[in-house]
Amino acid sequence: MLRGLRDGVVTTRWPGRPDGYSDAWRGPAVLTAPLPAGAAGDLAGICPTGAIRPGPDGVVRLDRGRCILCGRCAERRPAEFGWSRGSAAAVVSREALVVPVTAETERSVGQVRAALRARTAALRRSVHVRHVDAGSDGSEEQEIAALLNPVYDVHRLGIFFTASPRHADVLLVTGAGAHGMAEPLRRTWEGMPDPKVVIAVGTDACGGGLLADSYATSGGIGSVIDVDVWLPGSPPPPFAILHALLLAIGRLPGGSGYGSGERAGGMAQ
Ligand code: SF4
Repeated sequence: MLRGLRDGVVTTRWPGRPDGYSDAWRGPAVLTAPLPAGAAGDLAGICPTGAIRPGPDGVVRLDRGRCILCGRCAERRPAEFGWSRGSAAAVVSREALVVPVTAETERSVGQVRAALRARTAALRRSVHVRHVDAGSDGSEEQEIAALLNPVYDVHRLGIFFTASPRHADVLLVTGAGAHGMAEPLRRTWEGMPDPKVVIAVGTDACGGGLLADSYATSGGIGSVIDVDVWLPGSPPPPFAILHALLLAIGRLPGGSGYGSGERAGGMAQ
C-alpha cells in the first residue's frame, strides 16, 4: 500500500495521450541513405538472416521482417543503415516491411487496408485475444505478458486474453512457424468465429529470423495461416504489440488506424 501511495498511478494513458517511453524503442534496421550501385556484392554475407539482399530489379532491399536487430549493418555501414524508432512498427502487408517499398506495394497496401477495415468493423468494442506459440524463443511471450501489468494494463482498452479459440477475435502468433505447431495453429484459427484477425508478433513470426531456412520451420507463419498484421522486432515491446492490436481492430486514434507503419529514422519505406 505504501509503495502504491508513493508511486501513484503508473498506468500509461497511451494511445489517448503521448507516452515518451513508447517512442524510445529501437526498432528493426532501416536504410538511411540510398545504397550505391553495385553495393550488393559488398553487402553479401553482412546480415546473418539474409534480410539485406538485391531484388529482381537489382536494387538492394532490407526486409525488416527478417531483421533480428543484431546491429552488424549499422556498425559496418553507418552511412547507409540506422535504426527505426518508436512502437508504431506494425503494417498490414508483408511486402510493406521490405524497404524501400515499390509503387506496387503502396497501391496494394491501400487495398489491404480497406478490406481489413471493412472486415473488422464489428470489433470496435471489447475483443478477446488468443495467443499461440509456434516455435518462439520465449522473448515475445515476456513482452505479451507485460501487457497485463499495471503499466500497460491492456484491460483498460477492452482487450482481454482468452484460453479458448471459440471466444477469440484476435489470434496473436509468435515463433518461426515450427512444423510441429502448424496443425495446432490451423485448428486454432479454424476454431475462431468470424470476423477474426491474425497478428504475427516478432521477426520470427514475420520471416523466420535466424531459423528462416531451418528444416524445422516454415520461415514465419505466413505460409501456415493468413496474416492480417505484421509486427517485426526481436522482440517487439509491449507498446508495439499494443499498437499492432489497435491497428488490427481499427482503434488507433487520429486516423483510419490502418497506416503502413513507422517511418521515423529511415528513407522512403
Ligand atoms: S541489424 Fe538486421 S538487417 Fe542489419 S545485419 Fe542485423 S539482422 Fe541484418
